[in-house]
Amino acid sequence: MGKGLLIVISGPSGVGKGTICGSLREAAPEITYSVSATTRKPREGEKDGVNYFFKTREQFESMIRNDALLEWAEYVGNYYGTPRDFVEQTLNQGKDVILEIEVQGALKVKEKFPQGIFIFVMPPSLDELRVRINNRGTESEESIRARMHVASQEIQLLKHYDYAVVNDRVELARQRIQSIITAEHCRRERFLADLQKWHVEV
Ligand code: 5GP
Repeated sequence: MGKGLLIVISGPSGVGKGTICGSLREAAPEITYSVSATTRKPREGEKDGVNYFFKTREQFESMIRNDALLEWAEYVGNYYGTPRDFVEQTLNQGKDVILEIEVQGALKVKEKFPQGIFIFVMPPSLDELRVRINNRGTESEESIRARMHVASQEIQLLKHYDYAVVNDRVELARQRIQSIITAEHCRRERFLADLQKWHVEV
């Protein structure tokens, strides 16, 4: 049994990563999702261990010290991080794992796991991103400007990713990501090791 694929879905705040992953969960239930740890407070309806592992800052900092996180980042005043053991165990069982994380964290994963598949979700345009952040109705004009500034810097980091998926429509973006995963499973490198086990010269 080969190792599973580590698939990192990242991109600027407001681009719709969460909605695409929600659609992917329904369409591809065989894929496992990593549940992150965070110090942010649960939103209404969020459950500990399902949406996030909700931690105090002290608990989170102890996870950092114990090297229990594959990556972590501070985002808008809170810590977010990926528990390492779950990801490693799931990959070793031959299952694919998806991380839905912000851009700084994705780049840290790339340093440790260059064989991962790094997918950057793009807005159709910066104007459209502004409309989406605005439509959440939760941000002040100043916060929208700050998020737009961060987003335009984050988009410059696209060069570190393997794929760019434009989120023009959620269903289309979800299909593109599924196609990428299928194509990655068909890479010849994944089969060469097996051929050696079959004692076939390659
Ligand atoms: P939210 O507070 O809206 O749930 O998440 C804020 C941002 O943190 C989103 O961009 C989300 O993708 C990102 N995020 C969630 N979990 C993690 C994680 O484990 N690590 C990192 N680096 N970012 C995360």
